[in-house]
Amino acid sequence: MDSSRRTFLKQTAVVSAASLIGTDDRLSAAQVKSAEASTKVNEASWYSRPMRWAQLSFVESDPGNYDLAFWLDYFKRVHAEAAILNAGGCVAFYPTQIPLHYRSKWLGDGDAFGDIATGCRKLGMNVVARTDAHACHQDVYDAHPDWIAMDENGSKRRHPSDRDFWITCALGPYNFEFMTQVHQEIMSRYKADGIFTNRWAGSGMCYCEHCRENFHTFSGLDLPRTQDPLNAARRQYLVWHQLRLFELWRLWNAKIQQINPDASFIPNTGGGALSDLDMKTVGELAPTLVADRQGRSGAMASWMSGKSAKEFRATMGNKAVPAITSVGLEDKYRWKDSVQNGDEIRLWMADGIAQGFRPAFTKFNARPFDKRWFPVVEEVFQWHYENADYLRNERSYAHVGMVYSQQTAAFYGGPDAVAKVENPGLGYYQALVEARIPFDMVHDGLLDSEHLAQYSTLILPNIAALSTQQCGQIRDFVERGGGIVATYETSLYDEWGIMRADFGLADLFGTSYAGGKEGPMLNSYLELERDPVTEQFHPLLASLEDAGRIINGVHRVRVNPSSKQGGSPLRVIATYPDLPMEEVFPRTAASRDAGVFLSEVGKGRVVYFPWDIDSTFWEVMDVDHAKLLRNAVLWASNGPMPVTMEGKGIVDIAIWGQINSMTVHLVNMTNPMMMKGPVREVIPITSQKLKIRIPDGRRAARVRLLTARSAANYHQENGTILVEVPAIDVHEIVAVDFEA
Ligand SMILES: [Zn+2]
Repeated sequence: MDSSRRTFLKQTAVVSAASLIGTDDRLSAAQVKSAEASTKVNEASWYSRPMRWAQLSFVESDPGNYDLAFWLDYFKRVHAEAAILNAGGCVAFYPTQIPLHYRSKWLGDGDAFGDIATGCRKLGMNVVARTDAHACHQDVYDAHPDWIAMDENGSKRRHPSDRDFWITCALGPYNFEFMTQVHQEIMSRYKADGIFTNRWAGSGMCYCEHCRENFHTFSGLDLPRTQDPLNAARRQYLVWHQLRLFELWRLWNAKIQQINPDASFIPNTGGGALSDLDMKTVGELAPTLVADRQGRSGAMASWMSGKSAKEFRATMGNKAVPAITSVGLEDKYRWKDSVQNGDEIRLWMADGIAQGFRPAFTKFNARPFDKRWFPVVEEVFQWHYENADYLRNERSYAHVGMVYSQQTAAFYGGPDAVAKVENPGLGYYQALVEARIPFDMVHDGLLDSEHLAQYSTLILPNIAALSTQQCGQIRDFVERGGGIVATYETSLYDEWGIMRADFGLADLFGTSYAGGKEGPMLNSYLELERDPVTEQFHPLLASLEDAGRIINGVHRVRVNPSSKQGGSPLRVIATYPDLPMEEVFPRTAASRDAGVFLSEVGKGRVVYFPWDIDSTFWEVMDVDHAKLLRNAVLWASNGPMPVTMEGKGIVDIAIWGQINSMTVHLVNMTNPMMMKGPVREVIPITSQKLKIRIPDGRRAARVRLLTARSAANYHQENGTILVEVPAIDVHEIVAVDFEA
């Protein structure tokens, strides 16, 4: 039995034991045990050891032409503990004996991969061999034309960037036979700690003879020629494509572990709702993963690195995930030999580290043209090395979980998944960062009581496609006292994207689907109403009391207008003319629909917005919507957050526990360039007042600011620590050491 399978079985055993115990309190005890168990398993293998990673990927002309000693010295200076080094696949950097495995023209009789791998090993580093499976030369095409990917029209696909190459089929013999041999040869020669394969999962749909035949055997259907997820062949394809890739993963893993049982296949895969492979299965198969979100461009938010970390953590748990950060500009024009400015690199790495990634840098071409990035990475890695004890996280203390759903993206979103699925999540994410609320991401395949035990609130940002079982798990969560905030079409579809007659969660929402949607709604508003009995504003409207009315969203689901539980603090003012200007006045309506439904179910609280508050917020960024999104979480949570923070600025927060300490990470995103990167300079924030709740039965022995390298002034009372952080440039960590 391979080691990842053993790990998985041990964890499964813990889960089953925990579910037998039952009560909430004991579940959290079981969760602690589960964390301990997985740590113990990981200690036996190498995967959890390296804290800092380096990826140096040779280009074809590097062998014999670059400074090996320089790189080894740099790895040593930055305390890198593992390296990903280019070995083969597309271009071989070692003396391969496999026919058609193309050797670098600069390799001669040398062994570029072997030399640098040996050097890294002498430094005590783990070595992972990198391969690339997506492209091959003309001789491969000539010998095996069936290994080449085929487009919809039956043409073999030339590589769009380099006309000397052809695109390979990922699901046929090129990967299953040829790349298997390559991986076996690399493992036999070098006993690497793993093989990381880039672009192994194909380059879009392939219509080659193998794919046509294998898909037909699986489904009885021809390959689909539509992106519509409701098309029967397309649905079957989405299932088959995943099964085939997991089959390839297991094959490569088995072949690798026949040679080195402590190694494994490390696919370049993983991510959020829009990623291809089911992250729950990925989390079960992978003892470690390498996250490949190398930087941002355009209007991507600076918290995207942290978001990626949270998405991996949702199914990987405490397993180590290094995130390769590009030292260059990440843009569609692909300036791969460029250098990004230092503050942008610092901020991108800081947010990933804060949310649980291990830092890794990646550089292609071992002869760097522009060396300005070297001291920046060295500074970040040196800081990370000094504080490593506080960066081995055992658990997150976040009380809020935001659900992400790959099935919603695949079967409800389809080709429109960015607009329909990703944007609502991004909107709510931004609102939580602005609200300084720490939160985790939660995979919709892991909504069982054990995985949800730490959360007081779950956010469902248009999680449209949910199975009956998943709806049941959410209902159980609420009945145990959890809160939920759901928006728009959440639960209106089943797990295959088929519309239901009513919301799967209609009983929790306190309203039902009335049929149809409205939108885009121009010039529509929400009126704020006091409770008719108490004449007070509901806490959902906190800091909006003087508004009278705020803007509505852009789309809404038609629901039965009144709540089973009575009044609503928001009332819809229907669209009225926005031109000619003389006609811009609201028309009176007999009844005004509820703009939000608030319910108390069992011990839990439910907020349901029948409109697209989150995606409208992502598009328009109206601060009134930010307040509603924040207030909804605070009301549904019905208790204090683990950390609160007062002061000016935009800060991404994370709160973690280690074996005998806890940390609060504060990443300063206050920057005039925040909404369109990269940053030009860091604008420090000052005088931040934190209130940190510490676990029951613990007392702080000391509190330090790790970046400032100073003791913090703090006050401890009733399980909380009050501490002021005088200034934050990019990243500060408040570290609380507990009394023994
Ligand atoms: Zn194919």
